[in-house]
Amino acid sequence: MTTSQTPAAIAVSGLRKSYGEQVVLDGVDLTVPQGTVFSLLGANGAGKTTTVRILSTLARADGGTARVAGHDVAAEPDAVRGAIGVTGQFSAVDTLLTGEENLLLVADLLHLPKARGRAKAAELLRRFDLTDAAAKPAATYSGGMRRRLDLAMTLVGDPQVIFLDEPTTGLDPRSRRTAWATVRELVADGVTVFLTTQYLDEADELADRIAVLDRGRVVAEGTAAELKRRIPGGHVRLRLADQAAVDAALAALGDAAPDRDALTLRVPSDGGLRSLKALVDRLDDRAIAVAELSVHTPDLDDVFLALTDTEGVASR
Ligand code: ATP
Repeated sequence: MTTSQTPAAIAVSGLRKSYGEQVVLDGVDLTVPQGTVFSLLGANGAGKTTTVRILSTLARADGGTARVAGHDVAAEPDAVRGAIGVTGQFSAVDTLLTGEENLLLVADLLHLPKARGRAKAAELLRRFDLTDAAAKPAATYSGGMRRRLDLAMTLVGDPQVIFLDEPTTGLDPRSRRTAWATVRELVADGVTVFLTTQYLDEADELADRIAVLDRGRVVAEGTAAELKRRIPGGHVRLRLADQAAVDAALAALGDAAPDRDALTLRVPSDGGLRSLKALVDRLDDRAIAVAELSVHTPDLDDVFLALTDTEGVASR
């Protein structure tokens, strides 16, 4: 099943996994078209890493099916391994080796001819801005450099599908942007990226589609825009000059939630120009002094809180 003409790079149906009594995946269905970025979001312990481990053949499911790059993960694990790259939460970098040696080691493990391995290593060192550090032991690298090397090692075998499990945790903003640019380049070349992340802005920035995993089930799936539209949370925040102005604004606007200590009002709004103008006109007509006005449209944080945490829904 695909959403377009291209075949699915990842097709998961009814995936189940338990550890002892604990049900970790409770019937997960996912389809990821080739050449796209798919992001799996979920709180700590939601089952993201377990999903990645099953799809990358490191763990076996108890039930359901999963195909990656056209191969069944249970029946054809070697074919799946030959088509994928995995960057996990724990680095594969050997810190005693230099950056270049790490890459050449992966090339050897993949049985690349020596000359091709060397050319690939040089290309990846350049691409990840590690040429100057190539001959230094990875133990001397910064955290960001190690992560870049780790990602470079994932790419030695030219994988069709890449699993990135929280790839930018601990990176500074500039290194994150470099990592994002690399992901975009890979996707432009037709690679499929399966990304788990705790950074919702990362999913918003990179992912064509996002699935939210909660207690072992996919509770929502769609583009970032679709997910944002599904939840309420758009509002205008007004800060008034004094308590009298808060009362006057409440009387004028009706449907608004005051925070009297902060002298603010939260007014539900779609953030559109028309409704903003109507709001401002109503305040203006009554000469209500507004110290500050800000428009809040739902972001993926709101989506995440609304879909994965019942208290979050209640407080909205
Ligand atoms: P995080 O964001 O913290 O990495 P996650 O969504 O990746 O979380 P998983 O690592 O998939 O979550 O873990 C899901 C649940 O399964 C957790 O409660 C975890 O304790 C449990 N679990 C994972 N692996 C094992 C294992 N090998 N044995 C027993 N329990 C496990």
